[in-house]
Amino acid sequence: MTTATGRLTFDSLDPATGAVVGTHPIQDAAAVRAAVAEAGAAAVRWAGLGWVERRRRLLDYKAVITRNIAGIVATVHDETGKPEADATLEVVLTITHLDWAARNAHRVLGPRRVSPGMMGANISATLEYRPLGVVGVIGPWNYPVFTPMGSIAYALAAGNAVVFKPSELTPGVGVLLAELFSEAVPEHGVFRTVTGLGETGAALAGDPGVGKIAFTGSTATAKRVMAACAANLTPLVAECGGKDALIVDEGADLPAAADAALWGALSNAGQTCVGVERVYVVDAVYDGFMGELTRRARKVRAGEDYGPITMPAQLDVIRRHIQDAVAGGRAVLGGPESVRAPFVDPVIVEDVPEESVSVREETFGPTLTVKRVADVEEALEKANASAYGLAGTVFSGNARRAVELARRMRGGMTAINSIISFAAVPSLPFGGVGDSGFGRIHGADGLREFSRPKAVSRQRFALPGMNLTSFTRGQKELDRLVRLVTFLHGRRKR
Ligand code: NDP
Repeated sequence: MTTATGRLTFDSLDPATGAVVGTHPIQDAAAVRAAVAEAGAAAVRWAGLGWVERRRRLLDYKAVITRNIAGIVATVHDETGKPEADATLEVVLTITHLDWAARNAHRVLGPRRVSPGMMGANISATLEYRPLGVVGVIGPWNYPVFTPMGSIAYALAAGNAVVFKPSELTPGVGVLLAELFSEAVPEHGVFRTVTGLGETGAALAGDPGVGKIAFTGSTATAKRVMAACAANLTPLVAECGGKDALIVDEGADLPAAADAALWGALSNAGQTCVGVERVYVVDAVYDGFMGELTRRARKVRAGEDYGPITMPAQLDVIRRHIQDAVAGGRAVLGGPESVRAPFVDPVIVEDVPEESVSVREETFGPTLTVKRVADVEEALEKANASAYGLAGTVFSGNARRAVELARRMRGGMTAINSIISFAAVPSLPFGGVGDSGFGRIHGADGLREFSRPKAVSRQRFALPGMNLTSFTRGQKELDRLVRLVTFLHGRRKR
């Protein structure tokens, strides 16, 4: 669409009705460049404020978000179609992360003395984490507040300015988040949103003024973003998709496990990067678990308990995966007829061959494949046999075994006897391995992700007869050094 001024715009739609809920400019490479340049100047002012003043402003931002929960929830609901209760949960979780990032940035990143070691006895060594300048955040639509704010809050707390490109499906949420920041912190222009389609994101990733890109989205797009970043050696944190598994062990609380599997699979219509897509249940408890699962699943309704599929093109993927699953396995609930655009009713299929696309590729819909396995070792082997490695879940009656399984599960996060509980703990890092990406948001690692370590070594006094970094150095100094290193490191010691 072109406005009277000749500016290109695009519409944001309510996915449930198709109604236009907003119109936003398509910002081109020049507009992105200008935003990054302005953010670069703001970054200097923001970094210059120091820890205490930044913390105060970020806590003000948190308060403004908290006071505007209703407005944010309404915008998320309008643009994604998700129930307002789910959107509320998303915003509340975001608030706890913003609070943690603001309160912990100084402790995690501030200057500290580190031991110089025996060989550096005359050195005072300090380490601190400096901001990168401008962080470009490229976000998805499925959790349009929680997911990008996992980067934005931590990047701001680390002393960076942020230019945010929200998904073209949720631009209104992105604009609102930046507007609320300006309300709390009017003087700096530290956090700005640019709207547009994929090209706007590509321009941000390729802008030489950006110190780091925080990308959240599909693995395929992450590869394109990485290629754009390569032109300027811009570092990247990539939070991509997943095919997360839930393991049900002997002695597990079966009603709780079924409840968690169902919510993990169906909430947000399955459009959750850390949603449950596969379940592996040990033989001894399989029938009990399936009874609990299907009884509960029959009561869940698309359009009531969860919303529509936000991105119309995803309906084709979901339909294809359901067809593939029922062709190879046994439909327990629903089937291809469950797709009634824009909604998809719950689908559960058991005993689908492991090599099927519905078991291997991210479905991003309200579907679940369930497999009977002999024991937890087989469950773990199958759960880990994925190119993705984002998160996972273990339900077990044996706490020790559950922890051991969790540690061996491929992926960045595992929840035990609960579902995605790690996401609600701000001090825990969040991110994946393999096709699920690299780098971490949240927690101390998430703060460090948006900063660079700065090492300073100050010589407090000269060591007599030990000036090793000089052309005046003689054999005697070298002999002394070898004697010292032999004394310190030459013996077999534990
Ligand atoms: P996409 O990969 O389609 O898009 C992600 C973002 O990248 C959007 O803002 C998109 O803009 C932008 N983009 C598209 N093309 C380019 C390009 N060439 N250069 C730069 N940016 C570009 O993902 P979705 O929005 O569909 O999100 C769903 C995916 O995100 C799923 O795979 C899901 O698993 C994953 N995800 C991962 C999370 C995690 O933390 N690991 C959390 C949430 C989701 P536009 O929308 O305008 O095309």
